[in-house]
Amino acid sequence: MSNRSYSSQPKSVVIVGAGIIGATLGYHISRRAGMTVTLLERDLPGAGASGHSFAWVNGFGKDPRAYHTLNRRSLDMWYRLAHQLDADIGIHYGGEMRWENDPRRATQLRQRVRQIQTWGYPCRLITRAEMLALEPHLHPGDVLAASLSEADIHVETDTFIDVCLRRACEAGAVVYSQTAVTGFVVRDGSIAAVKTVDAEFPCDVVVLASGVQTTELASLAQVQIPQQQSPGIVMKTTPCVEVLHNVAVIHAPAIDEKHQHLHLRQLSDGSLRIGQGTQEGINRDDSQQQADALLDRARAYLPTIGDARAIPTPVGYRPMPLDGFPVLGFTEAVPNLYVALMHSGVTLAPLVGEMATLEIVDDVRVDWFASYRPERFSVRSSG
Ligand SMILES: Cc1cc2nc3c(=O)[nH]c(=O)nc-3n(C[C@H](O)[C@H](O)[C@H](O)COP(=O)(O)OP(=O)(O)OC[C@H]3O[C@@H](n4cnc5c(N)ncnc54)[C@H](O)[C@@H]3O)c2cc1C
Repeated sequence: MSNRSYSSQPKSVVIVGAGIIGATLGYHISRRAGMTVTLLERDLPGAGASGHSFAWVNGFGKDPRAYHTLNRRSLDMWYRLAHQLDADIGIHYGGEMRWENDPRRATQLRQRVRQIQTWGYPCRLITRAEMLALEPHLHPGDVLAASLSEADIHVETDTFIDVCLRRACEAGAVVYSQTAVTGFVVRDGSIAAVKTVDAEFPCDVVVLASGVQTTELASLAQVQIPQQQSPGIVMKTTPCVEVLHNVAVIHAPAIDEKHQHLHLRQLSDGSLRIGQGTQEGINRDDSQQQADALLDRARAYLPTIGDARAIPTPVGYRPMPLDGFPVLGFTEAVPNLYVALMHSGVTLAPLVGEMATLEIVDDVRVDWFASYRPERFSVRSSG
């Protein structure tokens, strides 16, 4: 039962942030009859974490099982969203291939594959010959274990965000770029308007889809949404010939103890995105030297990368709630303030966009979000 003071049919929704989450929500909400949607973006759409992401859509490394299932559901929803948007949204199909050259890690990979197979994830062990049949130009080195997660994809986030915002605007939404939210007008405990430097936007509901800045914005409304700092780097290159022919993403092993795993995907313009370590790994070295060294390591596995050059790519900050899990839902303290904050937002965007729309427009509580409510961080003062 909702304790919100506004009507159960909100009309006017202001979304703060036009990253992948704000854009997907903007698309879904604006399709609903009677809704008016305003998106306020302080920079350009996609300039936050979404534009720095590796954008691998997966459930492979997600634990515990309930969180894996959430990601898996969203992965499956990408296909329908692509159909609905009816445009090139920058999806690359083909799955994720990985392999290991170290006995301990090979054992871990075999165990993980068996575990997620029992969870119904379309992942299987493959032989070296199968790897080379999929990617004939790959020089994998020693292969002690290899796997293919066939449903995994990657997404060109700029293209996807652009399409979502275009469709939202066609349905009547208004997007303001380079318009930073600076505060809220609070009346009777709810947000009556969202403030920017030179305007106020009256609203029935405010959605914070503001990535790492969500914590600061929520605190302006006296709501606590703590985050941990999670810097990471996904390096960009100049375009090169097609280096991956069938799979969308590869994870290659470390060449020695001193190095981390490497992950790579290729965009439609031929440029590569390369990262290292895990999906949550901390990385702050955005020097050209580091980027060149990473590209050299990738070239050892994929010599067809040829003379592509590493483009300096600054550190990106993952929106990362303190416990690592999404924060989704209306807040108790400010009943018309909705928070949508998460890591793995590229994977989760279709599910969050559609299910949060049910919560915002239809005033229901989707039980898939039950473990991820904002109140888990509330510290009630005794005074
Ligand atoms: C290095 C790295 C690798 C990643 N790899 C993956 C991956 O492989 N798979 C995956 O699923 N996820 C990955 N992620 C995480 C994923 O990219 C994020 O979870 C997702 O992009 C979050 O989207 P968002 O829209 O919530 O946030 P953002 O994209 O950060 O968007 C928030 C927007 O809010 C705007 N904003 C902030 N403050 C204000 C304000 N005051 N007024 C107006 N606008 C404001 C910002 O400018 C920004 O555009 C990765 C992230 C990083 C950084």
